[in-house]
Amino acid sequence: MAPDMENSLRKFMKESKLLSVLTGAGISAESGIPTFRGPEGFWTIGSKKYHPQEMATYRMFLEKPVEVWKWYLYRMKICRNAGPNPGHLTLVQMEKLFKNRFKLITQNVDGLHLRAGNTMENTYQIHGNIFYMRCIDECRSEIYPLPDNLPGKEKGEDLTEKEKELIKCPVCGKITRPHVLWFDESYNEKYYRFNSSLKAAENTGLLLIVGTSGTTNLPNQVARTVQNNGGTIIDINIEENSFTDIALSSDKGYFINQPSSTALQSILKVFQNTDLGT
Ligand SMILES: [Zn+2]
Repeated sequence: MAPDMENSLRKFMKESKLLSVLTGAGISAESGIPTFRGPEGFWTIGSKKYHPQEMATYRMFLEKPVEVWKWYLYRMKICRNAGPNPGHLTLVQMEKLFKNRFKLITQNVDGLHLRAGNTMENTYQIHGNIFYMRCIDECRSEIYPLPDNLPGKEKGEDLTEKEKELIKCPVCGKITRPHVLWFDESYNEKYYRFNSSLKAAENTGLLLIVGTSGTTNLPNQVARTVQNNGGTIIDINIEENSFTDIALSSDKGYFINQPSSTALQSILKVFQNTDLGT
């Protein structure tokens, strides 16, 4: 690691501002999970092929709720079969080191950060979590874990009548929906920690952007807010992306052109060899 980057990490550690980490598809890709915005996400219903950006909508759910559920249960199966990788585990170590000075803002719905061991308290799943569901009518604002006996599905595999019962709201009996943010919906605090994410950004001294290219709105706002408040941004990605320029124009910002796990491990090493501020 460049000595000036190391110095800036050490200096940050002695301050009291937050360490925030924004993660995207790149860190999940290292666990073998595809983005589902590409070919893996296309879905055939009858003779028609649907684009992922048509499938992941409230509009499609209202039209074909069971088909949308089948698509999510297919994706859920892939996520369930994958496991956290060294990048995820390194972020758990960072949270242990920084405790409540650590905030993780993730666009990934695969739940791998929580499975790795990051806490619910400091992890903002801004696009939801595929292992949870909630009432389509929001009769309660509760989020329910998918029932254990609801299996993941192969492409094209139908839901049995018994499985259709399992995706009903336990309170009112109407159908539930996957607990994910769809393309035709907006962020909010209740389900997606919108305000908490922006508040964290305002208090962030160091933002690590990991494996995301910045195509959605809230991640961009988070990066801009950190930049405007004088924080340092380090962009970690295997290719240059729209966050690279923001990072390089932030105070002492960097671009690390490496896989997430490699880059995060070298940053953790510097933190582990430095004393925390009080
Ligand atoms: Zn309900």
